[in-house]
Formats: sequence, C-alpha cells, structure tokens
Amino acid sequence: MLLTTEQEMIQKVARAIAKDHIEPRAKEVDEKGETPWENICIMAENGLFGVHVPEEYGGVGSDMVTHAAVVEEIASACASTSVALSTQALAIAPFLIAGTEEQKKRYVTPMAQGKVLGSFGITEPNAGSDVASIRTTAKKDGNGYILNGHKVFITNAGESEIYVFVTRTSEDRTKGISLFIVDKGTPGLSFGKKEDKMGIRGSVTREVFLENVRVPKENMLGGEGEGFKILMNVFNETRPIVGAQALGIARGAYEYAINYIKERRQFGKPLSNFQIIQSMIADMAIQIETAKLLVNQAARKIDEGNPNAPLYSSMAKCHASDTAMKVTTDAVQLLGGYGYIKDYPVERMMRDAKITQIYEGTNQIQRIIISNHILKD
Ligand SMILES: Cc1cc2nc3c(=O)[nH]c(=O)nc-3n(C[C@H](O)[C@H](O)[C@H](O)COP(=O)(O)OP(=O)(O)OC[C@H]3O[C@@H](n4cnc5c(N)ncnc54)[C@H](O)[C@@H]3O)c2cc1C
Repeated sequence: MLLTTEQEMIQKVARAIAKDHIEPRAKEVDEKGETPWENICIMAENGLFGVHVPEEYGGVGSDMVTHAAVVEEIASACASTSVALSTQALAIAPFLIAGTEEQKKRYVTPMAQGKVLGSFGITEPNAGSDVASIRTTAKKDGNGYILNGHKVFITNAGESEIYVFVTRTSEDRTKGISLFIVDKGTPGLSFGKKEDKMGIRGSVTREVFLENVRVPKENMLGGEGEGFKILMNVFNETRPIVGAQALGIARGAYEYAINYIKERRQFGKPLSNFQIIQSMIADMAIQIETAKLLVNQAARKIDEGNPNAPLYSSMAKCHASDTAMKVTTDAVQLLGGYGYIKDYPVERMMRDAKITQIYEGTNQIQRIIISNHILKD
C-alpha cells in the first residue's frame, strides 16, 4: 500500500498547503459561508484540481490513488475547501468518460487548471436517490435542444462557469436520459438563493432553474439516451473521492482530539491516562485505518480498470463516511463541553462529516448497490 515517490510528492504539496494556508482559515470559511476563492486560487496554482486529469487537458496526469490522497489532506484541514476539489472531479468526470476531443479541450482544461469551477446538476425536487425519475426535459429544436426544468442542491451553482445537466430526451426511464453542457450566462439559466446548511458552509449550494435554455446539439455530452450509463460510471469514479474527503475529516478530528487529551487534566491526570478514553482512541484509530485502506483499495481498482471497482467505490464511500460521522462525534465527546463550542474545530468537523453520508448517493443507496453486486449471481 506504499505510495510511489511521485504520489508522495503530490501528497506532500497538498499537506503543506492544507497546513500553511487552509487550516488557519477554516473557521472563517465556515463562519462566512462563502466560496473560499483564496483557497481555490492556491490549490489551482499548485495543480490540485487536475491531479487525475491527463496532461493534454491541463492536468497533472497522475492517478486516482494520488487524487484521493490530495482530497484527504485538504479535507483534514477544511471540508468546505475540499468540496471544491470533489465537485470539480464530479464535473470533469463525464467529460473524460464521454466527451468529444473538442469538449474535453474546451471544458476540461480550464477546470483542471482551476481557472473556473464546474457543477453537475442531477438532483431535482422529486428525484434524489431515484435519479431515473428526473423530469428536466431537453427537446430537439432545429440544430439544438431546448432545456426546461428545476434542479436542487447543486454545489457551486451560481459560482461555476460550466454546468452539466441530466435531462430527459425520451420517456424511457433510463435510456431516455441525456447529458447537456450549459455555459453560465446562457439565457434562461438562473439560480436560487444560497441554502443555509448544517455543515460544509463554505461550499455554496443553490437551486437551478432552466427556462427555455437553448443549446447547440454539440453541447450534448455522450450520445442521446446514454446519460444514465455515463452517470453511473461517473459515480463509480467519484465515490472514492467522497470517501477520501470523509477520511480527511475523520483524521482531522482524531488528530485534534489526541493532542487535547494529552494536555487536558482531570482527577490529577491527563485524560489520555484513563483506560476508557484509551479504548475510544483505539476504536477511532482502527476505523480511520480501515477507511484509509478501503479508499486506497477502491482508488487502486479504478486505476487498474478492475471490473469490481464499482463495488469497492461504494464500500469506500459508505464506510469512510460512516467513520467520519462516528469519529467526529467521538472527538466532540473527548473534548467534553469544549467540543460543543465553536472555538474548537471538532464542532465544525462533526457538522461537516454528515453530508458525506448523504451526497453522491446516500449510504442506504450504497448498501443497496453493494448487496446487489454480491447477490447478483
Ligand atoms: C450540501 C449538498 C450538496 C449537494 N450537491 C449536489 C450536486 O452538486 N449535484 C446534485 O445533483 N445533487 C447534489 N446534492 C443532492 C444529493 O445528492 C441528494 O440530496 C441525495 O442523493 C439524496 O437525495 P434526496 O435528498 O432527494 O433524498 P431521498 O432520495 O428523498 O432520500 C431520503 C431518505 O430515504 C432513503 N432512501 C431513498 N430511497 C431508498 C431506498 N430505495 N431504500 C432505502 N432507503 C431509501 C435515503 O437514503 C434517505 O435516507 C447535494 C445535496 C446536499 C445536501
């Protein structure tokens, strides 16, 4: 499971950025509830948006294992900032999977370089876990398509320049789904208010409205009716990244709690001397280590093109996010009353952890995918 020298070098860059620039601003990013553009610029300057993107499209040309390691480092300091990385990966993936050469050059390059942000609009008011019930339509009109619909919970909506929307081109539940690229500023594309969220407050989430949005036929991403298949392949590649994000949040909280219990004294001794506390620390360490192994395993399977990669992707996302929730909750417990106060980062980390069990497919949906895979024969 050792990283190669190149993977380690990229991880070290991410670790240094996380420590020197991102961690000191994490509290402020959470309080302001705005996109952390300064952090985004630093990550862009250091190539972190394009770790797993081929060099010909502006990326670093490294692999998924390295990409996951980078997201983990950034998330350990500030989950909100790591969402900029994971959402960019989500926006880039459909292009790399199904885009034409022209689409990849035009859209992936600026996203991989971190010059612009991208968003992927899937969820609708009545289509969350059940993606195939989306109602946003794309109707052929001369040389193009006209899009109408309503998306909810779209990360970076209004902040991004590039949007990919999941639409319906026919009534067939899955084969009637097609993807379209829409540039910000296209007439008919508008955004709702910023959602007031529990966590990842420095990541902006908005509704999106599509009212007679006209796009040329060249903006279709993949073939007509191929959208659902592309989407499932996208998730297979991006779920380990959410796993890495969750792992980073867990590690950040765990490391903070370890330092705290060594310093804090009660009953005349440091908290770390009490066996019941030591047992909690051991459990946290075991959960973090198993999550790390699973995220790394899933990333490796993707890098190798292993047909079982989707199974491991779902396992990694599910286990790492459950770990993040458990470990951050325990970290708050270890700090006692101080853990509940905003001056201490574990309070923010516990709020941030929750979303990793929800987005990119809830953990109930991951368990359905995992059991279907196991029971299919
Ligand atoms: C902060 C944030 C950012 C997001 N970013 C994006 C984004 O960028 N792009 C995007 O498209 N979407 C995004 N989402 C949407 C997110 O992916 C969905 O919220 C998620 O997939 C769940 O859908 P839902 O909210 O409609 O819940 P529902 O699907 O209504 O689920 C409600 C509950 O029922 C459970 N459930 C549903 N079906 C089943 C079943 N068959 N068996 C057992 N349990 C089931 C779920 O697990 C969940 O616990 C974001 C959401 C949030 C909160």
